[in-house]
Amino acid sequence: MSKIQMMTPIVEMDGDEMTHILWGMIKEKLIRPFVDLKTIYYDLGLRHRDETDDQVTIDAANAIKQYKVGVKCATITPNAARVEEYDLKQMWKSPNGTIRAALDGTVFRAPILVKGIEPSVKCWKAPITLARHAYGDVYRNAEMEIPGPGKVELVYTSAAGNEQRILVHDFTDAGIVQGMHNRMSSIESFARNCFSYALDVGQDLWFATKDTISKTYDQTFKLTFQRIFDEEYAEQFKEAGIEYFYTLIDDAVARVMKGEGGFIWACKNYDGDVMSDMVSSAFGSLAMMTSVLVSPHGYYEYEAAHGTVQKHYYKYLKGEKTSTNSVATIFAWTGALARIGTINNNPELVAFAKKLEEKTLAVIESGRMTGDLARMTTVENAQVLASEEFLDAVAEEMR
Ligand code: NAP
Ligand code: MG
Repeated sequence: MSKIQMMTPIVEMDGDEMTHILWGMIKEKLIRPFVDLKTIYYDLGLRHRDETDDQVTIDAANAIKQYKVGVKCATITPNAARVEEYDLKQMWKSPNGTIRAALDGTVFRAPILVKGIEPSVKCWKAPITLARHAYGDVYRNAEMEIPGPGKVELVYTSAAGNEQRILVHDFTDAGIVQGMHNRMSSIESFARNCFSYALDVGQDLWFATKDTISKTYDQTFKLTFQRIFDEEYAEQFKEAGIEYFYTLIDDAVARVMKGEGGFIWACKNYDGDVMSDMVSSAFGSLAMMTSVLVSPHGYYEYEAAHGTVQKHYYKYLKGEKTSTNSVATIFAWTGALARIGTINNNPELVAFAKKLEEKTLAVIESGRMTGDLARMTTVENAQVLASEEFLDAVAEEMR
């Protein structure tokens, strides 16, 4: 059988622990037998990040700008325990944060639906994709404890030295205060990312904030989305037969719980953080959640939404059997291959990616799955497969 050719490579970012083990097996068992795989390889494993003073992460992000498409394995974000475990030079920043900042992207997360793993919200029939703004607000705030009576004001001093101030609160006793910000350029690129993505996947886009209460801050988000939609996207949405609408976040939550799914829900940073965990767990499992970073310049980075599955890795190191779910990592690869296939007008590669997704889900639907899914499936007598056995079963289906 001749292998499917790739015209240009994708950027491959290897990672840590159990997902690093799955990474190698996915390539060997599911991709290389069928595709003449071309990648520009970066090892973002924690040891190598430490050796290169994290330069490798920056290099990988730059490579995505050159090659347009990247696929990333889960990586350790170091904390104090990891600094000790890996004897690190310093507590390196989250690679995802570094890459996100370099590509100026928005993160879209969507659950993978499969028969036998039913959403706990009964009316959900199609995936709900969450688009989370990944800059500013409470994640870049300034906060202060107020020890006792006194005035708190917001002061803006312009570059020319002019001052604007407003009263936050005239305290009569102790309290707390917080200041946050966002940038117009970031809000605008968030809006464009959401509109382009909606056109790309042909789904309606919802956007929700609390503009009735936050009459300047959230209102600016709302007005910016509407302006960019009217000026740049309204025509294209009409042609594609999809809709954009804004609603208050309270109303959005109520509609989401009563809806059928099949749309994109754009949220500000904090709302997106919280709502994506709610949506993903209600759809079943973090191990069935895909994540793609889309930049307004047309760069795409695919990954699984879960972490490195540390506990399973320690079992693996002791030679014990693991049953780690590789589905979201497989879908990161298929997402990236389908994307580069589309960019290069390579229908064979796009079809391969689709086939691999279908076969992966077919194995689960046949009742063979990893332990995390077996615990919640409605399929009777589900058979629990070990990490490698699951990949072998998919490979068998592919052959
Ligand atoms: P995690 O790796 O997502 O795993 C947490 C637990 O969720 C696991 O112990 C396991 O539960 C279950 N789980 C997650 N993915 C699974 C899968 N594919 N198959 C089966 N079960 C799965 O989160 P963590 O343990 O909090 O974090 C570990 C490391 O990952 C951390 O160093 C963190 O920095 C990193 N992380 C990276 C990313 C990323 O690169 N995108 C994202 C999040 C976290 P059971 O033990 O009950 O089986
Ligand atoms: Mg969160």
